[in-house]
Amino acid sequence: MSHHDLFSRPHRRLNQLTGEWVLVSPHRTQRPWLGQVETLPPTELPAYDPNCYLCPGNTRANGAQNPAYTTTFVFENDFAALLPDIPLDRVSIRAPGATDGEVGPALLHAEAERGICRVVCFSPRHDLTLAQMAQAEVRRVVEVWAEQYHELGAIDWVQSVLIFENRGAMMGASNPHPHGQIWANEQLP
Ligand SMILES: [Zn+2]
Repeated sequence: MSHHDLFSRPHRRLNQLTGEWVLVSPHRTQRPWLGQVETLPPTELPAYDPNCYLCPGNTRANGAQNPAYTTTFVFENDFAALLPDIPLDRVSIRAPGATDGEVGPALLHAEAERGICRVVCFSPRHDLTLAQMAQAEVRRVVEVWAEQYHELGAIDWVQSVLIFENRGAMMGASNPHPHGQIWANEQLP
């Protein structure tokens, strides 16, 4: 088998991290595709959208009102994936019929995971992206990222701070207003 065959012939590859073999079928990408075709999102956006929950002065779904911010704006995610105040406990579920004295792995282990999720609006302008903003405005965003990283990282139970942006409806970001996410986790993800 040559290197070229890695892109055209079924084979298995060794995952060097886990020692497991993984099945690869690269020729499958040549099959016909009759699936869903996405339309492009609208390119004409207003500078301010009264229905946007991130635009300055607007009310969010939980009733909170955004300030009339002029540069960046950071707030706790109203629908946070992680919460800071939860009971710190764990649970293990064993196979049906397993007795207390029986050794062996449980089917499921779960542990509470604390965290803080914040949203960063990059600009008050609804119609911009980071790439369209002036250099000084982008610099302000990077400074906010650094401030948030230090602030959240200084919390004694936080072990990881991740700053990221999901862009586009297909990625689950239904709001085009320029914004990103910050997740602070109790454990290293
Ligand atoms: Zn907006």
